[in-house]
Amino acid sequence: MTSLPLGADGIASRTAVPLSGHTTLRLGGPAARFVAAGSAEEIAAAVRTADAGSEPVLVLGGGSNLVVADAGFPGTVVQVANTGSKIDSLGDGRVALTVEAGEDWDAVVCRTVEAGLGGLECLSGIPGSVGATPVQNVGAYGVEVAQLLISVDLLDRASGEIRTLGVDELGLGYRTSMLKGTERAVVLRVRFELADGGLSAPIRYTELARVLGVRQGKQVPVDLARAAVLELRRGKGMVLDPADHDTWSVGSFFTNPQVPDHELPGVLARIAARVGEDVPVPQYPAGVGTSKLSAAWLIERAGFSKGHPGHRVALSTKHTLALTNRGDASTEDLLALAREVRDGVRVAFGVDLQPEPVLVGCSL
Ligand SMILES: Cc1cc2nc3c(=O)[nH]c(=O)nc-3n(C[C@H](O)[C@H](O)[C@H](O)COP(=O)(O)OP(=O)(O)OC[C@H]3O[C@@H](n4cnc5c(N)ncnc54)[C@H](O)[C@@H]3O)c2cc1C
Repeated sequence: MTSLPLGADGIASRTAVPLSGHTTLRLGGPAARFVAAGSAEEIAAAVRTADAGSEPVLVLGGGSNLVVADAGFPGTVVQVANTGSKIDSLGDGRVALTVEAGEDWDAVVCRTVEAGLGGLECLSGIPGSVGATPVQNVGAYGVEVAQLLISVDLLDRASGEIRTLGVDELGLGYRTSMLKGTERAVVLRVRFELADGGLSAPIRYTELARVLGVRQGKQVPVDLARAAVLELRRGKGMVLDPADHDTWSVGSFFTNPQVPDHELPGVLARIAARVGEDVPVPQYPAGVGTSKLSAAWLIERAGFSKGHPGHRVALSTKHTLALTNRGDASTEDLLALAREVRDGVRVAFGVDLQPEPVLVGCSL
């Protein structure tokens, strides 16, 4: 067996590794150097060494929220691949779950559900790694990881030190944190607080409550909540399936636009002028002084239907918010579709859609 060459960080690495093999879009050119770091120490060594040499670093988890340029990445890709977890009792029916960043997120959620721990069940079926979940404050079906996070251990890239930051120090917001799209830190492990009692968190999401046959705010057995979430997600092409091109995506490509209350009447007037006064516009409170509109609804009402345009890239046939690779696309094809949709919504309604994934070496 030929062994891989060791880099200055003492870790085996490969060169010219196609990143299309490491993203759920199956897009992205080669990484100049690729390191699979199997422990927190290896991750820290690889990133510190690259930083000391001012070499570009791309921290890679499951590649499910990344759009990588066709030209690839001209530095070191550090794949976070540390594994392991432990559970400590906090008393009073609560536990602390500590998980290494490289663990597969949904496998961890599945294990907590099997152990009767409540909290993560509504986040079932989301691809990617545990370490990435605080990065964009992963959320679905009325739950965000911010509600369950205790703290993260991370490598602070400015100082080279390993620090623990509490949930309040991470700048968590709707699909964002102070870590997203920055070079600040690498998450090494994450701690969550869960409930030990076999019940889910209160079900907040209308569609999920309906499928479960309960009123909003009720709790259900955790395994029922997970099964219902997975069923809903599969129907929308939001559970990875190599055979289904609708899942060759980054999930939602655009975030739901947040509109300050003082701008809302103007935006709603523009929407009414286009779709008619009588058509109800989906809108939700999004914190003090802000409302959230549905990006999927706006895209559809701007004239883009599921499956558009359907050649090398297309909107998913199950969900307008997912931009998908039909098999032989390039990143440039995908970005062209993203620009078409973004510009169409802007022209129709004056609303600017923002991309949810992290764009590497490319832009909209
Ligand atoms: C089918 C599908 C459905 C999806 N559904 C949802 C959903 O319901 N809700 C939701 O919120 N998201 C969803 N996503 C998006 C994605 O799964 C999440 O954002 C996920 O957390 C990304 O994890 P990852 O390990 O794949 O990150 P990657 O794509 O590898 O990386 C994403 C970003 O995080 C950074 N990063 C990754 N790991 C670390 C780390 N350890 N430390 C510091 N930075 C790091 C990367 O550098 C990059 O900037 C979906 C994606 C797909 C493909």
